[in-house]
Amino acid sequence: MKAPARHILLNPGPATTTDTVKFAQVVTDICPRESEFGEVMTSVSRRLSAIAGDPEKIDTVLFGGSGTAAVEAMITSVPLDGPLVVVDNGAYGARMAQIARAAGVTHFVFQSSPVAAIDLDALEGFASVHKAKYLAVVHHETTTGLLNQLPPLGRLARKLGMELLVDAMSSFAAVPIDILKDGVHYLCSSANKNIQAMAGVSFVICRADALGRLDPARSRSYYLNLRAQHDYFRKAGQMRFTPPVQAIYALQQALTELESETVAGRHRRYLDMWRLLNQGLLDCGLSRLVADENHGGLITAIEEPDWPGYSFERLHDFMKQRNFTIYPGKLGNQTTFRIANIGAIGVADMAEFVRLLKQFMAAARS
Ligand SMILES: *Cc1c(COP(=O)(O)O)cnc(C)c1O
Repeated sequence: MKAPARHILLNPGPATTTDTVKFAQVVTDICPRESEFGEVMTSVSRRLSAIAGDPEKIDTVLFGGSGTAAVEAMITSVPLDGPLVVVDNGAYGARMAQIARAAGVTHFVFQSSPVAAIDLDALEGFASVHKAKYLAVVHHETTTGLLNQLPPLGRLARKLGMELLVDAMSSFAAVPIDILKDGVHYLCSSANKNIQAMAGVSFVICRADALGRLDPARSRSYYLNLRAQHDYFRKAGQMRFTPPVQAIYALQQALTELESETVAGRHRRYLDMWRLLNQGLLDCGLSRLVADENHGGLITAIEEPDWPGYSFERLHDFMKQRNFTIYPGKLGNQTTFRIANIGAIGVADMAEFVRLLKQFMAAARS
């Protein structure tokens, strides 16, 4: 089979994949209830746990579905014994609050700046007043590229006796995380961002002791019941419902590639691309929304210039014809576009993108 043409995705996921990951999906038909497939899922889930810390103390529960499925499994299954505080500093924090509302989870929303660090004293006061038992945050806000530091949030959660729930969709496998050291109880992500695999598999990485305390009978979701999914998998070596078989084979291959690069190595590669991008933005006279000290270095929201030749559609189409896909912004009142430097791409790709960006912007200014 011939490899398909290479196209570079600079949208914030799904990310560009290697040909080996693409081809890993072409397998002999298999019934996912056969034990061989159970072994594949067991190993995938254990390898995901190992990325998040000591796999002996962590259980990773797989779901078929995009990333939001894992977030919804976490928000509907975990906060059973008291109020949840959700930090909203971007579209994905707001989404967790929407999930809580839809499921009837008692929750309070802590609004925080989309471009600056969370005010931890204010959050502590807010969580105390509401007698919160659970705290939910987005690790890396894909809306802006803002990185919420986990260790101080973990310490705050411990101090107030809360469990910490994290949406790490766009940081996991790029930013090194140790959920046990960072004080995280549940963390969710998906296959198709920094893991560089296919869309369709998402997962919740759980501290085994916390997961053990959950009551499957009280989850507010039937399909996305975290503890029921875990218990069934333990008992039967199967997902409760049909898994995305081929996407799981791709994930298995992507994990092999991640383990050989290592999370630290992947982080360095991404940051090397980010530095190139930043220099390019400066050279073009474009500004970023989030300053260096709060930036994750993975996804950059850029203020749209008011130059006569600029419109997002024009830039998008110019880049698309030249083999790069870029993405619009997602922040309420501010007009931005976003560039992600994640996926199976390298500095040569980013250098080419920056060259084209300069060419486009120089023409757009005049
Ligand atoms: C990508 C992403 C999600 C999930 O989005 P899906 O479209 O459901 O895959 C959730 N949270 C964050 C922070 C994300 O970046």
